[in-house]
Amino acid sequence: MTTILLQPMGAVDVDLISFLHDELGSLFGAVEVRPEALIPEAARVPGRGQLAGGLVLSALPAPEGAEAVLGVIEEDLFVARTNFVFGLALGRKAMISLARLRQEFYGLPPNQGLLRERAKKEAVHELGHVFGLPHCPNAGCVMRFSRSIRETDFKSSRFCGRCLKTLESSGVLARS
Ligand SMILES: [Zn+2]
Ligand SMILES: [Zn+2]
Repeated sequence: MTTILLQPMGAVDVDLISFLHDELGSLFGAVEVRPEALIPEAARVPGRGQLAGGLVLSALPAPEGAEAVLGVIEEDLFVARTNFVFGLALGRKAMISLARLRQEFYGLPPNQGLLRERAKKEAVHELGHVFGLPHCPNAGCVMRFSRSIRETDFKSSRFCGRCLKTLESSGVLARS
């Protein structure tokens, strides 16, 4: 069984954390929600209104006793040479930002159902990287890279057959 630590960075939508807890739990095995952690001040870039994703990621606690840690943050993230990222992953740590998954970001009325669906896709995608999957050329696969929210909405929250086989053969997912 694969255990994932779910780590809110700063104050994060409680409904969304409990949704991710249930969804990731039924997909991967076990999820443990950690108490809120502080956002590292060094990650705040003056005048940019965004946080440096790599610094937030490295501030995540090590996934002791678990296979992966997934950080969730409300603020918008960027990494070098990008305007923004929906998420990032390195080693056993992964991170997603909710900022651009909210309809409000695009001047639209809030939609919690859509937020949940998008957050699930980005969370599964980043955890897929932690478990060794590269980006996938399959159009509907959750491991397809998304550059825009439209691309996130287009893909599904599921692994395609090929990605699923890789995860099953490495023991991350149980064979069904
Ligand atoms: Zn990716
Ligand atoms: Zn795939």
